[in-house]
Amino acid sequence: MGDKLDIFMLSDWCQRTGDTLVISGPCSAESEEQVMQTALGVKECNVDVLRAGIWKPRTRPGSFEGVGRKGLKWLKKARRATNLPVTVEVANSEHVEECLEHEIDILWIGARSAANPFTVEGIARVLNGIDIPVLVKNPINPDLELWIGALERLNRVGIKKLAAIHRGFSSYKKSLYRNEPNWRIPVELRRRHPNLPIICDPSHICGNRELLSTVMQKAMDLLFDGLMIECHVDPESALSDSKQQVTPDQLKDLLSRLQFKALSTDDMQYHQRIEELRETINEIDDQVVTLFAKRMEVSTEIGRYKKKSKIAILQPERWEEIVQTRIKAGMDRNLSEDFVFNIYQFIHEESIRKQEEASEREER
Ligand code: PEP
Ligand code: MN
Repeated sequence: MGDKLDIFMLSDWCQRTGDTLVISGPCSAESEEQVMQTALGVKECNVDVLRAGIWKPRTRPGSFEGVGRKGLKWLKKARRATNLPVTVEVANSEHVEECLEHEIDILWIGARSAANPFTVEGIARVLNGIDIPVLVKNPINPDLELWIGALERLNRVGIKKLAAIHRGFSSYKKSLYRNEPNWRIPVELRRRHPNLPIICDPSHICGNRELLSTVMQKAMDLLFDGLMIECHVDPESALSDSKQQVTPDQLKDLLSRLQFKALSTDDMQYHQRIEELRETINEIDDQVVTLFAKRMEVSTEIGRYKKKSKIAILQPERWEEIVQTRIKAGMDRNLSEDFVFNIYQFIHEESIRKQEEASEREER
């Protein structure tokens, strides 16, 4: 579906020292001293890019909204002191112009801006013909098309140094995370655009320091190209996102614990065994699809019969009974409640669609 993005490889425009690209720095630039101390701290951790927010998009008015333009000068000094390229969030054309004026190396578009095509288009318009890398966070709502759309708008004006940042998605549901990771969305982005670098931002997914290491490892296991992690010399005193920021020492420790696994191996024994297991999976999937098809044929039959008997398609009591019994059966067999429930929601939706189709056919 859709056109491919015309982009450069990450290694063509961003050097990395370790096994994965690491972008780190404070959520917000707060003072010249804090920017410089944090920059020197992350440099010690061998990070590749320094980040900082200058204009902060806050949920409620009255919170710290960033230091603005003067922060760009502090970043320029930090860049000189560490030799690290610097990235800053831009949310409108003036931000872009000020960043270009202060020789910011990489721009990033935040989650709230990525959700608004007018905003992204406005930023793209001033970037027309300018050779600067742009990182695009996922929109706050779990909408892959909108995320891809933002990347396309930038690509259309000639930005080829592009990467996506996965920072999780807003949800009303109470959750362990500040922003639900919904891993299947970046995984699907990778399938649709295999050449697009994808960076994970565990800080905004977690919202706290404690969860960071699990989410960072998960991103590496899912073959993300890099990490963007918030780091502050004194997180407790941070003016924004204080709970999720780590000290440079904590960052060093987190990075040292990451495990990197290979995509493939020359080991013949591994290949033989994995082939056997995959063959088994293929056979099971064939049975699963055959059973789905059989089940839908029965749904069609039910649709016809309900139509003839003038009975409504949706039967809430029956649906409730299916949910309860299938979840129990699944859990008895070591399947998670969420997994069984999600599968049955898909099955039920398709079953209703089949019944509607059968019912319309009866009418003709
Ligand atoms: C940030 O990186 O500090 C930030 C505001 O992120 P997001 O746009 O993902 O909320
Ligand atoms: Mn932040």
